[in-house]
Amino acid sequence: SDLAQCERDMIARRQHLLGPAYRLFYANPVHVVRGEGVWLYDPEGQAYLDMYNNVASVGHCHPHVTAALSRQAGTLNTHTRYLHETILDYAERLLGHFPSELAHVMFTCTGSEANDLALRVAKAHTGGTGVIVTQLAYHGTTTVTAELSPSLGRGMQLGTHVRTVPAPDGYRGDARDVGEAFAAHVRAAIDDMTANGIRPAALLVDTIFSSDGVYADPAGFLAPAVAAIRQAGGLFIADEVQPGFGRTGDAMWGFARHGLVPDIVTLGKPMGNGHPVAGMVARPEVLAEFGQRTRYFNTFAGNPVSAAVGMAVLEVIEGEGLVENARRVGDHLRTGLRALAQRHSVIGDVRGAGLFIGVELVRDPLTKEPATEETARLVNDLRERRILISATGPDANILKIRPPLAFSRENADLFLSVMDDLLTRAASARPLHQ
Ligand code: PMP
Repeated sequence: SDLAQCERDMIARRQHLLGPAYRLFYANPVHVVRGEGVWLYDPEGQAYLDMYNNVASVGHCHPHVTAALSRQAGTLNTHTRYLHETILDYAERLLGHFPSELAHVMFTCTGSEANDLALRVAKAHTGGTGVIVTQLAYHGTTTVTAELSPSLGRGMQLGTHVRTVPAPDGYRGDARDVGEAFAAHVRAAIDDMTANGIRPAALLVDTIFSSDGVYADPAGFLAPAVAAIRQAGGLFIADEVQPGFGRTGDAMWGFARHGLVPDIVTLGKPMGNGHPVAGMVARPEVLAEFGQRTRYFNTFAGNPVSAAVGMAVLEVIEGEGLVENARRVGDHLRTGLRALAQRHSVIGDVRGAGLFIGVELVRDPLTKEPATEETARLVNDLRERRILISATGPDANILKIRPPLAFSRENADLFLSVMDDLLTRAASARPLHQ
């Protein structure tokens, strides 16, 4: 058809214009022209259920957010070196969602910039340079954060000051004491740094371990590792770019699940619902040294439009009870997935918190052999049924499910019935345990 030809042309133009480093999702890429709530629409008006985009967290093109954006864009947009109230009102509202110890916020445009800034602050405060991250972490696009992002692949050289630790995996690892096992790896990393003359600056983790494979339980497991880094003079930086703003269902922030107050918190993705709003929240005593040594100016960050958008996003999260919805619908979705696991042995594990869910697919529940190809096929089959998710983990066999927070029980039930159908077809197409 004309549209199919047009899409083939678009793929060729992307390669021609954007070069070789970009990747599209799916064997059959999705062409979208409009979004609303949990739905995306293609040029023919067909609806796709978005269960992956954790940026449009309060729903695609939420009218309260787009109205705030266009109102402020039509009034004033400038930088942070003039007095303007929006940044102050927003900072107050945002900090109101944090424990009182975390009393300063600085604004950036991306999560990468937030992590980059957090590391500068941590280095200034501790006098150290060493950073510990998980084995499949992703923390950003800048030189410094890419060197802390082993998930970018073997082609990405990690910094010599960087140590990686295995993710706190209660399914494949030591399920009896996930927290102690994780802390033991962190202590070993600290010892290795020290032996090489590197002073630890920080333990930096995504508190839901998204790119490692989604690890949320048991709640509290991060505490011993955080105690270990602090004892070594380093800081705990919670990367809330993925779990933050209510997605985990029990609180606004993933770290709350672990009963912790971090030294620094980094924010991004859902903060502006698609507008580039990100930031770093810190304890004043941690920020003091950095502020004395230098100044900070970020041309676009914290501008009145971004602040108005950030404020509108918070108003929607609060006004629509989205944290509570994430908890309720997330529980419903996990319960449904566990019921499917009773009938489909390919589902080895269902985990996560709120509307951040990981489903690990295995060829055999006893050996836990990763069902990598089956996972890729399922993700592509779901796409053909117009449901969008993706896969993660070292063997790409973990379904990653992160719909907008207004996701409903009916949306969840639609997904569960399509999953059931696809898994039934896949099982009848091939003998089990081949
Ligand atoms: N940290 C985590 C955990 C992320 O998932 C990402 C983005 N995928 C980033 C940081 C970087 O954010 P950005 O793309 O906004 O720079």
